[in-house]
Amino acid sequence: MDADQIDHDLESILLTEEQIRTRVAELAAEIERDYEGQDLLLVGVLKGAVMVMADLARALSRHVEMDWMAVSSYGSGTRSSGVVRILKDLDTDLTGRHVLVVEDIVDTGLTLSWLASNLKSRGPESVEICTMLRKPDAIKTDIPVKYVGFDIPNEFVVGYGLDYAERYRNLRSIGTLAPHVYSRS
Ligand code: 5GP
Ligand code: MG
Ligand code: MG
Repeated sequence: MDADQIDHDLESILLTEEQIRTRVAELAAEIERDYEGQDLLLVGVLKGAVMVMADLARALSRHVEMDWMAVSSYGSGTRSSGVVRILKDLDTDLTGRHVLVVEDIVDTGLTLSWLASNLKSRGPESVEICTMLRKPDAIKTDIPVKYVGFDIPNEFVVGYGLDYAERYRNLRSIGTLAPHVYSRS
């Protein structure tokens, strides 16, 4: 067994590559319908949304623009604080634009709620949210998430952009880590 093989660190696979691909295609079809005849700017939230952005954008057969933001929310802890800092801002002027925020996961929703109101203050025509994953706690926040890939249990997951200590983002599936991963450091 090769300790370098990331999938050996998974305890269970929650969503396979195939399930993810199918769902992304469905979301893309919905988005194409909803934004027909309108310009569309996809705003990816670094770094977690890189994979879903890449797949979603390519599943669309229409023109889109892509821009990126980096914000910090968690710091070194494991729970969202609601204290958000912009590490990298957009290059795009949002005035009059239809903005679709692309996220990896909504947990408490605190990060996204802050981000949505920040983006709305820049004069866009509309701001909606698309997330690959949503956890039960997200219900506590009242921000409407228009497009949700999957509702998942309240467990810490990695893969498809989501990291643990910056690793596992390149996993093609989404799953939970085996206990031995947390005990070594
Ligand atoms: P929120 O503000 O919604 O609580 O947290 C959002 C951010 O927390 C996500 O963008 C992600 O970076 C991180 N996060 C929340 N839940 C998980 C999880 O299960 N796994 C990983 N890897 N990150 C998570
Ligand atoms: Mg994120
Ligand atoms: Mg992270």
